[in-house]
Amino acid sequence: MIPGSLVLSQVPVWQSVLARAITDPAELLAAVGLGDEWLPAARAAARLFPLRVPRGFVARMRSRDPHDPLLRQVLPLAEECLAVEGFGADPVGDLSAMAVPGVLHKYRGRVLLTATGACAVHCRYCFRRHFPYAEANPVADQWCQALNYIAGNDSITEVILSGGDPLSLSDRRLADLARRLEAIPHLRRLRLHTRLPIVLPERVTDELLGWLSATRLKTAVVVHVNHANEIDASVITALAGLKSTGAELLNQSVLLRGINDSVEVLTTLSEKLFEAGVFPYYLHQLDKVQGAAHFEVGESVARCLMAALNRQLPGYLVPRLVREIPGAPGKVWLT
Ligand code: SF4
Repeated sequence: MIPGSLVLSQVPVWQSVLARAITDPAELLAAVGLGDEWLPAARAAARLFPLRVPRGFVARMRSRDPHDPLLRQVLPLAEECLAVEGFGADPVGDLSAMAVPGVLHKYRGRVLLTATGACAVHCRYCFRRHFPYAEANPVADQWCQALNYIAGNDSITEVILSGGDPLSLSDRRLADLARRLEAIPHLRRLRLHTRLPIVLPERVTDELLGWLSATRLKTAVVVHVNHANEIDASVITALAGLKSTGAELLNQSVLLRGINDSVEVLTTLSEKLFEAGVFPYYLHQLDKVQGAAHFEVGESVARCLMAALNRQLPGYLVPRLVREIPGAPGKVWLT
């Protein structure tokens, strides 16, 4: 766990670190030693989807390298402003799957709660970059509609806290939500989908570990890492803290052109994840969201990469290549 999770003012350290995230493209370019020639496009693209990246994540980027795989995930580019056929605002049919505000019920036995619209980092390829979080806010009525929906449907055994990033919420709110979920007898599992332990490892506080350890629900924390360079010593410490709660740690990545579309990069990622106590779970084909077409890797290339990965790694280190298809009863496995 990260020491010093509270300062005297009782504002958790992680919230202060988050508040200092870089949101100005000029500051990001200066921080990584790149010139102003990138600035006009970055400003234009950031008007469509704002820039946000914690300084600790920026510190893991290579200086003066516009192709750095971490920088490419967060730097707004001119390509985001292009309209590309087949790429839309709601690529995975989230809106039609919303049972009540904030509850997406797509698959049998589990529901996803868009617990908050806030994220610590804005990933340029995010499939929810156009999601209307204001209309899908379960917090607005103190979770009542969402919890009533879950309590009234005993086929639901698992709740997935997603977002945005659920760990953007305070531990007080999350612990309260976990307690109310625990009170629903048919619930057995609680899953968190989060990128915060990776981009802002200070978020893994004693308070978070406390309520995660205490819940009667079996827990899984699914983090989101796309490249091994994202995992430094502070991330390894944060993941070890999460592991100590008894939670299963899994990773999901998105296959991204120019970032992780090579056998070498994916192999190193799986190995480094495992050393940090995390199993590779899913490798997602890009969801066709407007503004992210330049990240797409074709399906035949993806299948070739997976075949090569299978030759390089033991099976438990090979993630499943999947695509989400609106209306399908689960993720579609491509391998
Ligand atoms: S952390 Fe997840 S939800 Fe947030 S911008 Fe990145 S991909 Fe989207």
